[in-house]
Parts: sequence; structure tokens; C-alpha cells
Amino acid sequence: MQYDLTEEQLMLRDTVRRLAKEKIQPGAAARDEKGEFAHDMAELLRDNGLFGADFPEEYGGAAMGMLSLCLVIEEVAKVCASTAVILLVHELGTMPIFLAGSKAQKEKYLPSLAAGENLIAFGLTEPGAGSDVSSLRTKAVKDGAGYVLNGRKVFISHGDVAKWVCVAAKTDTTVPGHKGISMFVVDQGTPGFSIGKHENKLGIRGSSTVELIFEDCRIPAENLLGAEGQGFTIIMKTLDFTRIPVAAQALGIAQGALDFSINYSKERVQFGKPIFTFQGLQFMMADMVTRLEAARQLTYKTAAMFQELPKDLSRLSPEAVRYSAMCKLMAADTAMTVTTDAVQLMGGYGYVKEYPVERMMRDAKITQIYEGTSQVQKVVIASTL
Ligand SMILES: Cc1cc2nc3c(=O)[nH]c(=O)nc-3n(C[C@H](O)[C@H](O)[C@H](O)COP(=O)(O)OP(=O)(O)OC[C@H]3O[C@@H](n4cnc5c(N)ncnc54)[C@H](O)[C@@H]3O)c2cc1C
Repeated sequence: MQYDLTEEQLMLRDTVRRLAKEKIQPGAAARDEKGEFAHDMAELLRDNGLFGADFPEEYGGAAMGMLSLCLVIEEVAKVCASTAVILLVHELGTMPIFLAGSKAQKEKYLPSLAAGENLIAFGLTEPGAGSDVSSLRTKAVKDGAGYVLNGRKVFISHGDVAKWVCVAAKTDTTVPGHKGISMFVVDQGTPGFSIGKHENKLGIRGSSTVELIFEDCRIPAENLLGAEGQGFTIIMKTLDFTRIPVAAQALGIAQGALDFSINYSKERVQFGKPIFTFQGLQFMMADMVTRLEAARQLTYKTAAMFQELPKDLSRLSPEAVRYSAMCKLMAADTAMTVTTDAVQLMGGYGYVKEYPVERMMRDAKITQIYEGTSQVQKVVIASTL
């Protein structure tokens, strides 16, 4: 498996690195403090053509593939994890359309999503169905030329600002577990679709996380993705693809904290010497950089592997599923360890908001939770053995 970065990918990485440093880093602390969706960052990403990196050319995308998308997300997350969420959720919300959308549906949704003119969200989680997708209770009942949706989703990233939300609902309640689930695209503003609670979060505070409420919400039959009952397959394959960009976000957060804390340790003098010279801290830094590089190589290898895989409903190999879960598990756990150690390296200065590492530590935590917790990744990995 070849996954060295090409000239084009290196150029992309450098361009995004510059953009991130000049335009994204300066407001990161303020966005964290404010705790609202950062419309200005969505506009910046759109103006720089970063929404369509992994979209096919025929729908206006740059067709650069999963590894390029990961490089973009990593660079953005290095300075602002919340801005990286905008790109992650865009890929997450679009993936069901890539995988199961008809030609007409792709033509309707993908061009404006590739251009970043519209945003999309992914509505899976419910109060009683988190890790256990098969417990979801939102219902879509066939009624004339459409479906009537009833139910509630929680923790939906950007559900309030997206023009469309891919929503998972039970179309057949007579079959148990993950059977009888279907996937629909629901337009914002459809009567019966409203936004409930906005979450006040520990990290990624520049992204919005909201409750979606469906009360007799009527949607046309043409909004069904794939066939009735294919929802679980669409959800699982969506997550197999999109866990890789989450791993890239985790790498970026960890790298940002590592860089900042090492630089700080070279300036900070205690006992008459820069703290960088203390072997106790050097061993910590050696562990941080080693873990991070191992997580990066696993993530890049997985991204390169997925670059070649068709975005349709064909089955992925157990190996592909395993790699996707392994890179997310390893990168997320690494991000948590590295950011916590970065705070430790900086002592009290690591703990206060004057410096970015406490924010990075708070931001890192979500990578162990969303798109499947670290425990769920282990369940997935073990299931392929
Ligand atoms: C900020 C944020 C953004 C989110 N964005 C979205 C989004 O855009 N769309 C969306 O649909 N969802 C989203 N989510 C939901 C997220 O995917 C879920 O929170 C996550 O899947 C876990 O579900 P849960 O919170 O119900 O936890 P639970 O499933 O209740 O898990 C609680 C604990 O039990 C553990 N656990 C559960 N099952 C097992 C098992 N079989 N073996 C071992 N341990 C287990 C978990 O690892 C965890 O530690 C978001 C969540 C947050 C916090």
C-alpha cells in the first residue's frame, strides 16, 4: 500500500496551513468563548474551495480523495478544531447521498454542497439510541406520495444551520433491531421539522449541536435514499468512511498542542534552565511525538486505502472496516493523551485560557465520542477478527 504524499497533496497541505495560520487561528479562542456556529469560518472555507475536496468532478468537486481531505482537516484542526468540524460534518452529511443517492438526487444536492453554498447534517442519534443504532425510534410512515416523520434526534452537529439533514428513521416497525431503518433527506423549513435544544459544550464550541424535532413532518417519497430498509447499511458504511476524517481532526488537535507546548518549554526557565532540558519532560515529549506519528501513519494508510474504494452500497472488506475503526481509535486516544500532556508540560500556563492548549484538550475529547466512541471502535475492530 503506497501512501506517500504527492506533490499536489504537499502543495494543498502547505496552502491550507498558511490559510489556517493567517485566517483561522486568530479568532479560535474567541469562537470557543462565544460558543456559536462560526458562519465566518464556513464562508472562509467556501471562498477557498475547501468543501468539495473529496467530491467527484462531475458534481463540481475537486476529486482529490480521502487522503487530501484528511490533510485539509488536519491542518485546520491544528489551529481550530471547531472549524474542522464544519468540513467533517459536511462529509458526514453528504456520504449517504454519495453511497445511496440516485443520479437525480446527486444532481440535486451535490453541486451546491461541493461549492459550499449549502451545508448538510447527519441526523442519527436519539435520546435512547446512541452507540446502539438499532434502538432508534423515529418513524417514517408511508402516506400517499410521501412519508410522515415523527421523532426526535439529539446532538446533531449543524442541524440548525444546514439546508438539508440526512435523517435515519424506522419505516418498518414490525421487524426488530437494525432492520426496517431507512434514510431520508429532509429540508430545513419543512413544516413539522423544528430545532429544539442547543447544547452548551465542553469543546468544539464553535460548532452547533442541536436537537431536531419531527412532528407529523411530511416529506416527499423522492427524498428516500436508496430503498426502504437499506438505512442501516447506509449508516454503517457512511461511518466507515467518515471516521477517517475524524481521525485526521484528532491528529491536527494533537499536533497543535504538541507544537505549542514544545515551543513554550524552550522559553520557560525554571531552576536556571529552559524546562525543555529536563529529561523527565523530554521523555514525555518523546512519547507524545512517537504516538502521534504512529497514529498519523495509520490514518494516512487508511485514507489511501479508502481513496480506491467505490462510494456505493457494495460491502467493504473486513480489513477496510478494521482499519477505519483502528485509525479513529488510535488517533482519538492519542489526541486526548497528547493534549493532556501538553497542558502538563506547561504547568499552570497550560491550564489557563491565555494559551490554546487547554482548549485543545477540551476539543480532543469529542474525537473519542462522536462517530462511534472508542469502546465502539473496539467492538467494530474485534468483530472483524
Ligand atoms: C458534540 C457532539 C456532536 C455530535 N454530532 C452528531 C451528529 O452530527 N449526528 C449524530 O447522529 N450524532 C452526533 N453525536 C452523537 C454521538 O455520535 C453519540 O454521542 C455517540 O455515538 C455516543 O452515543 P451516546 O452519547 O448515546 O452514548 P452511549 O451510547 O450511551 O454510551 C455511553 C458509554 O457506554 C459505552 N458503550 C456503549 N455501548 C457499548 C458497548 N457495546 N461496549 C462497550 N461500551 C459501550 C460508550 O463507549 C460510552 O462510554 C454528537 C455528539 C456530540 C457530543
